[in-house]
Amino acid sequence: MKYDVIIIGSGPAGLTAAMYTSRAELKTLILAGATPGGQLMITSDVENYPGFPEGVQGPELMDKMIKQGTKFGSEMKIETVKSVDFASKPFLVATDKGTYEGKSVIIASGADARWLGLESEQALRGKGVSACATCDGFFFKGKEIVVVGGGDGAMEEALFLTKFASKVTIAHRSDTFKASKIMLKRAKDHQKIEMLKNTSVVEVLGKDKVEGVKFKNTQTGEERDFKTQGVFVAIGHKPNTEIYKGQLEINKLGYVEVKNHTITSVEGIFTAGDVNDSRYRQAVTAAGMGCMAAIDSERWLTKQE
Ligand code: NDP
Repeated sequence: MKYDVIIIGSGPAGLTAAMYTSRAELKTLILAGATPGGQLMITSDVENYPGFPEGVQGPELMDKMIKQGTKFGSEMKIETVKSVDFASKPFLVATDKGTYEGKSVIIASGADARWLGLESEQALRGKGVSACATCDGFFFKGKEIVVVGGGDGAMEEALFLTKFASKVTIAHRSDTFKASKIMLKRAKDHQKIEMLKNTSVVEVLGKDKVEGVKFKNTQTGEERDFKTQGVFVAIGHKPNTEIYKGQLEINKLGYVEVKNHTITSVEGIFTAGDVNDSRYRQAVTAAGMGCMAAIDSERWLTKQE
């Protein structure tokens, strides 16, 4: 089956793109992956998506986006893309169930936060464990927080969290920091921030909510419990770009390289959302980029006729 647009991904970027392409009467296929909805499916309260003054649960917001994204005729398949061929015309996108042809493709396959990989960390996600200060910082007013990581991401998260938290402790596993000098200085100079080097988190403590962490000194091996009400893991993000390697330009951080907002190195292939954005990473920015990619793809398709 040949489509005008194949959209890879079903988070805010992909679904917004689908809403626009299908309303423009382009035959659209959304390849949603195993769990439609993306990262917001594992988020609880979302208070910063416009139009929801009372806030909205992540899964409820995505349910609405799926309805709106498919309302105008887009087809959605719960299939995971395994490979792409962007050298062929039309483009070929293969999933675990079949191969689809698209005159254009919008890559909106997102990124995943890197996690420590602890069972207790996963059990307490959304109950005090988070990987997004902009999303969840507000819920930690007056509380004590641990930020894990030693890069610019961790410094930025820690500095942002000082707006809400009474104290922020940065726990970094190494002796030296990856963070830039300026970010490191800002964090070090902040009166609410304490820095712990050579310290890794080996367990998050608490049953229904975070009550503390177990620290391990990475040089001596000594362990100790530390009271905290929140844990922000800031050890980097991993864009889902493995399948595109060799097919289009990927930058050194692993994100899809863009020339002009949504335009990739291959004509007819567009991109939107966290898969090309290491800077903003918000549902609302991803949705905005989805709209831009849809408009760019529509204009490009019109030019080809
Ligand atoms: P980085 O890769 O720069 O840093 C990751 C940090 O997490 C490192 O300190 C690393 O420790 C630590 N880490 C990695 N894995 C683990 C683990 N399993 N357990 C414990 N710690 C771990 O990622 P960032 O997200 O910080 O930054 C990504 C890029 O984005 C960078 O280029 C950064 O400069 C940029 N950025 C810029 C900002 C700004 O300028 N305002 C803000 C945010 C990001 P170790 O050092 O021991 O390997």
